[in-house]
Amino acid sequence: MTAAVPPAPAASPGRPPAPDREPGLLVLKVGGSLLSDKRHSGETDHAAVDEYAAMVAELVAEHPGRIVLVTGGGALCHPVGLRIKAAEDDPYAAVALTEPAFRMRWAWTTALRARGVRAVPLQTTSMLNELPDGTVVTETGVVSRLLSEGALPVLSSDCVVTAAGTLRILSSDDVPGVVLDAAVAPGPVRVVALTDVPGIHLSQDPDSPVLPHLDPDDLAAVRRLFWDDAWDATGAMEGKVEALAAHARRGAECVITRGDRGPGGLRHLFAPLDAWPHDVPRTLIRRRTSS
Ligand code: ATP
Repeated sequence: MTAAVPPAPAASPGRPPAPDREPGLLVLKVGGSLLSDKRHSGETDHAAVDEYAAMVAELVAEHPGRIVLVTGGGALCHPVGLRIKAAEDDPYAAVALTEPAFRMRWAWTTALRARGVRAVPLQTTSMLNELPDGTVVTETGVVSRLLSEGALPVLSSDCVVTAAGTLRILSSDDVPGVVLDAAVAPGPVRVVALTDVPGIHLSQDPDSPVLPHLDPDDLAAVRRLFWDDAWDATGAMEGKVEALAAHARRGAECVITRGDRGPGGLRHLFAPLDAWPHDVPRTLIRRRTSS
């Protein structure tokens, strides 16, 4: 499928919210903070990758062909991202991200294949074409084809070839936007970002409640909630919220929640949102009127 990223549909304030439905496509992003210590450039925790892979395998077995996995880079990609940002005089510096991002995709692919999942790592760079007017054209035929076979596309942060022919970083929180049009089943596209916090905290106290809903057309009020994570290559929560709000403006329902490895696994991620367990805090980013 070749598709130009469509403009955001106009909001219709008078319409009541549509009832929640099971997603047609779940784009599951597992944050790097769950798999490594970015701040101290620690090693990737392969036991954690394995545990998450087991839960993803259960989910794929129950919903084959309806899940795309996006792997966060964590400590593997973070220092490379910082070096790329510092190399201002090298318009191709972002190519360095290819290697650590692939190592992450491959770690997941190996763990998933060991559990019988048809996991296939894909390079996002080859699916994107930025036009001179800034429109990004996506080519996601291979994603839809893999989904139709019940396989699991595995994507990660990557670089984009810009209209000028140079490279820029595409963060893993931006990647779900590439596959929003690749669904092969009816129902909304849900983007779930699993991370090390249960949503957007209302204060810097880690026990503070999280914002339950964020209007993707009005991010002004939320900006004061972001902690100072200047050390983070991709802007931590701020970068994530900007990226997810862009997906939500295109009609996706986006959820930030903690990646707990509890007994229930990740099954609820596929349930209608109003059927999620009540003790799972989350921040939902969705237009109130979107279906
Ligand atoms: P990666 O981007 O490497 O995949 P990730 O998606 O798991 O990692 P981060 O990008 O590090 O996670 O975003 C989560 C971090 O955002 C938290 O650990 C916290 O430090 C930071 N943060 C900033 N402001 C807030 C806030 N208001 N509420 C919750 N977390 C916040």
